[in-house]
Amino acid sequence: MEEKQKTPGELRREALLYQPKNGYDRLPAAEEADLNAYCEDYKKFLDAGKTERECVDETIRLAEYHGFKPFTRGMDIQPGDKLYRVNRGKSVTLAVIGSRSLSEGVNIGAAHIDSPRLDLKPNPLYEDAELAFLKTHYYGGIRKYQWVTIPLELHGVIALKDGSTVKVALGAGADEPRFTIDDLLPHLGAEQSKKPLGEAIPGESLNLLIGSRPFGGDEGSDRVKLAIMDLLNQKYGIVEEDFISAELSAVPAFQAMDIGFDRSLIGAYGHDDRVCGFAALAALFTLGTPARTAICMLSDKEEIGSVGVSGMKSANFDTFMSDLCDAQRVPLKACYEKSFCLSADVTAAFDPNFADVYEKRNSARINYGMGLCKYTGARGKSGASDASAELVAYTRKVLDAAGVVWQMAELGKVDAGGGGTVACFMAERDIDTIDAGVPVLSMHAPFETVSKLDCYMTYKGMKAVYEAE
Ligand code: MN
Ligand code: MN
Repeated sequence: MEEKQKTPGELRREALLYQPKNGYDRLPAAEEADLNAYCEDYKKFLDAGKTERECVDETIRLAEYHGFKPFTRGMDIQPGDKLYRVNRGKSVTLAVIGSRSLSEGVNIGAAHIDSPRLDLKPNPLYEDAELAFLKTHYYGGIRKYQWVTIPLELHGVIALKDGSTVKVALGAGADEPRFTIDDLLPHLGAEQSKKPLGEAIPGESLNLLIGSRPFGGDEGSDRVKLAIMDLLNQKYGIVEEDFISAELSAVPAFQAMDIGFDRSLIGAYGHDDRVCGFAALAALFTLGTPARTAICMLSDKEEIGSVGVSGMKSANFDTFMSDLCDAQRVPLKACYEKSFCLSADVTAAFDPNFADVYEKRNSARINYGMGLCKYTGARGKSGASDASAELVAYTRKVLDAAGVVWQMAELGKVDAGGGGTVACFMAERDIDTIDAGVPVLSMHAPFETVSKLDCYMTYKGMKAVYEAE
C-alpha cells in the first residue's frame, strides 16, 4: 500500500513539537513477554518483603543466587566481581566492579526499601473493655483514615537481653491470623463525619485489635491481655517487657495483585519505593562486566528523612565506597566527583479523579514510562536536589539510546504540596544526581497502584544507567 505523503505541517510538527505517546504505542511486541515476566518477579519480591529488614533478606537471597559475595574491608577486587554489604540488617549496598578504574567514577542506582506503616510503641500491650490492643506510632506520611478496617499483619523483630533475636512475620502465611483497627459505624459516626479528613482518625486511636478471649480459670484483672501474653510466650518465648526492645510493624495484609480487566496494573502495599528498589536490583543482576562500576544502594528511613544509621545520610554508604576505592588506591572524593546517581524513587501519577492538585502538562502519566524529575521539593523547590540541565540532557541521551520509554514528572502543581527523595543526600556527597522512578496512584496508601509498563521501563532505565560509559 502506498503511504500517504505527509503535509509540510505534519512534517514540521513531527520535527519540532514534543509529543509524548502512550508507552503501549511505543512498546516493541518482542518486549511484551519480558515485561510480564519482570512484573511477576516483582510481585514475588513485594510479597517476600513487607519491611526493610525482610527486603534486605530477600535481596541477599537473590544476590547470592546471582553470584554476589559479601564484601569485607581489605578484599582484593577485580573487574566483574559481584559484591554486597549489609548495614545492620536494614539497608544493603551492592556492586558490580567495572573494567575501568574507580577514579573514573561509578554509576549508582539508589532507592529506598522502607515504606509507611504503623510501628508498635515500646510499651504497646493493653486491655480495655475486655479487648486486647497494641498501641502504634505511625511511620512516614500516612493518611490515617486509610489504615482502619483493613486486615493488617505484624512483622519485625524482638531483641532479647540474651543477645538473641526473634523474627516475627505473623499473617504472612495463608492460615495465620491477622489484625485490624476499628472505625465507627456510620450510625454513630455523625460527629466524626463532620471533621476534616485529617482529623477524623486521631493518631492515638490507631490501636491494633489483637484478641478478646480471657485467660481461663482466673479472677484477676486484664485476663485478655494475660491470655495474649501467654500465647506470645509460648510462640516466641517473650515476656511483656521484651516489647521495649522490639521493632514490630503493622503492615497491610495484601499480597501484590493484578488490577484491571486488562491486568495492566499492579496493586500492592509498598510500591514506594520497592518498585524502584527492585528495578535497581534486577537491572544490576543482568550486568556482566560494565565499563564503570555499578552500585545499587537500597536504603532505609527515607520516609522519615533518610536519617539515622541506616538512612541515606549515614556514613555507612561512604564507608562501603571508600573500602572499594581503597582496594584500587583511589581517593573516595575523586571517585564521587566523577560519579552519576539515579535516585530511583516513585513519583505521583496524574489522577483524573483528583485533577486539581496536578498540573497536567508536567505530571507523570500512567503508561508513559519512567518518570524523570529534574527537581522534587516543596514551596519553591525547597529541599530539592534540582539536577542541572547538562545532567538532564545526559540522562535523556542514555535512556533514549537504550529504547527506554520515559517522561518528565513533577510531583503535583506549584504549592499544592511536594516531597523529597534521597537525591539531595547523594548530591551533597558531590555526586551528580537526578531523580527518576515509577509513577504511583494512591501513593503512601496501604494499597498503591502502578502500571506494569512503567515498572518495566524503570528497570530498563536502571540497566541503561548502569551500562552507560
Ligand atoms: Mn519514596
Ligand atoms: Mn514515600
